[in-house]
Amino acid sequence: MKAIRFHQFGGPEVLQYEDVPDPRPREDQVLIRVRACALNHLDLWIRKGLPGVKLPHINGSDVAGDVVEVGSYVSSVKRGMRVLLAPMTFCNHCAQCTAGQQSFCREFSVLGYLNDGGNAELIAVPEVNVIPIPDSLSYDEAASVPLVFVTAWHMLVSRAQIKPGNTVLVLGGGSGVGSAAIQICKMLGATVIATAGEEAKLQKSREWGADHTIDHYKQKIAEEVRRITSKVGVDIVFEHVGSATWEDSVRSLRPGGTLVTCGATTGAEAKFDLRVLFSRQLSFLGSYMGTMGDFHQVLPHIFSGKLKPVVDRTYPLSEARAAHERLEKSEQFGKIVLNP
Ligand SMILES: [Zn+2]
Repeated sequence: MKAIRFHQFGGPEVLQYEDVPDPRPREDQVLIRVRACALNHLDLWIRKGLPGVKLPHINGSDVAGDVVEVGSYVSSVKRGMRVLLAPMTFCNHCAQCTAGQQSFCREFSVLGYLNDGGNAELIAVPEVNVIPIPDSLSYDEAASVPLVFVTAWHMLVSRAQIKPGNTVLVLGGGSGVGSAAIQICKMLGATVIATAGEEAKLQKSREWGADHTIDHYKQKIAEEVRRITSKVGVDIVFEHVGSATWEDSVRSLRPGGTLVTCGATTGAEAKFDLRVLFSRQLSFLGSYMGTMGDFHQVLPHIFSGKLKPVVDRTYPLSEARAAHERLEKSEQFGKIVLNP
């Protein structure tokens, strides 16, 4: 099969479109003909070099396609089904996995991180990862769902326990995870303040439901939040930006508010005053992707059309390099998708 592989870590130039052996599914696995695979920032980090990644490597966490072969132990999935893949790997038999807490499994990882992913014509995965999709969802849309929606759902619903009437500050509303968060907040009855770094992304954030927007280059986030909330602050801050916004994120919280974070795109170092934490009784929550339960909770809302995956643009698999460059420059709104 054809795949995008890299034999050394580095810039977009290390990505090679080449012939690699077809994956051979085990008897408990399903072979998928990949039709679409969306990019994530994780693809860039892995390409630049992360511990545990074996070379040569095939990236790709967000996959949609057709079932072409099923192992003899597989019962729920049939050949010919249109499907998307849960974007995670886990052992599926430890205490944490059987309790539905897959993200605490010792073997938990993102699909395409420690194993080969979907930047290829074929991928073999366990049956539990394979989920049929309705005809109303295109492959490109389906591939734009998994990682951002399970991550945003886990952050807002499972971790921060969002309630109707809450006000939520969504950092980076123009990003994949930001656009998912805006929609989930609105569906669950919250008011959304979204930030973005340019007018086009602010406009898109409003289209996806944001009630208020802040240009994080031209305006001070915390000051604007204070003005919008009549000096109260927000109930929840949805963070994934990191160093560049951290101070403003903390200052935007109301007393008793919750900051939940799943990333640090602009840097991992943050200054923090412990007196603010205890005197304002804040909660700081880390969040790492999500569980299969989260995924199955959010998917019906996608399949019914209430939540919409946001496709930025598509590239042929062979042009993965250009796709990486677009993501690296943050030019996208929503997901960049590769078509093998
Ligand atoms: Zn496990």
